Amino acid sequence: MRSRPFRAFISTGLLAITGLFALTGLAQDQKVEYIATPLSGTVTMIKGRGGNIAVSAGEDGVFIIDDQLKPLTDQLLGAIRDISDQPIRFVINTHYHGDHVGGNETLGKAGSVIIAHDNIRQRMNSDQFNHFFNETTPAWPADSLPVVTFNDRVTLHFNGEAVAVHHVPRGHTDGDSIVHFPASNVIHMGDIFFNGLYPYIDLDGGGSIQGMIAAAELGISLADGETRVIAGHGPASDLDGLTAYRDFLAKARDNVQLLLDQGMSLQQAVDARPTAEWDEALGKTWITPAQWVTFIYNSLTGVDHFTALESQDTTTE
Ligand SMILES: [Zn+2]
Repeated sequence: MRSRPFRAFISTGLLAITGLFALTGLAQDQKVEYIATPLSGTVTMIKGRGGNIAVSAGEDGVFIIDDQLKPLTDQLLGAIRDISDQPIRFVINTHYHGDHVGGNETLGKAGSVIIAHDNIRQRMNSDQFNHFFNETTPAWPADSLPVVTFNDRVTLHFNGEAVAVHHVPRGHTDGDSIVHFPASNVIHMGDIFFNGLYPYIDLDGGGSIQGMIAAAELGISLADGETRVIAGHGPASDLDGLTAYRDFLAKARDNVQLLLDQGMSLQQAVDARPTAEWDEALGKTWITPAQWVTFIYNSLTGVDHFTALESQDTTTE
């Protein structure tokens, strides 16, 4: 099994990644296909539009991890009701992006308790300018905001297991969590794990390559050979897939560090194509090779926002 280094996470091929952030033009009546995959007796993964969701449904009722895009909330709730018609008691947000917290307002109004890291509430409660998208996301309505926040870790004792929500500092953002279902043997990695495409690192939102690697390490430490791993985007994976992903992140970082050690500017580093070995497999779906190198370069040089180069097209989606 160890003889398939990167294959475990890149052989999934090109994925139709849509609706990561693009809320404009998204109509409520746009029909979305939801695919539910049972991962244990109580935990089901739902793929729709936006970040992958986990649903825990059992004797205590229902809670979910992330709730995708705001205009599609009613459709998503329909897909969850196909699993259980019990009320959704809790929502855990893995980070503040609109393709993971979009359903919060509807669910909060309906009485679900929204749980998230302190920094998620803080970012959702204020306007957020982002250099990568070159736009400002306005503060979210009060009903969208997490009601219970935590700084390090919180545990939900629900449906027969102690579900541990671990904050991982400065990864994809500054407010990410990964969620471990120990009895179900399932881990939801949030957007720490983009399975089959270059990851987005939200530098403006406090993310960094170093934190992404550390968070992947934590996921690996919680997993065994039977663990099902939910990525924020892309298909479900396993320990081998997550390990290959961590190795890729670390090697990409090392390749960029070598160029930094030679004194290269960001433009020179991008032009040197330090991620060429993965560009074909991972760099054609959303994040371009130049953007990916920029995330790493700026992380390593301590630049706390995305920098667009002349040669880059940051408007791709
Ligand atoms: Zn995200």
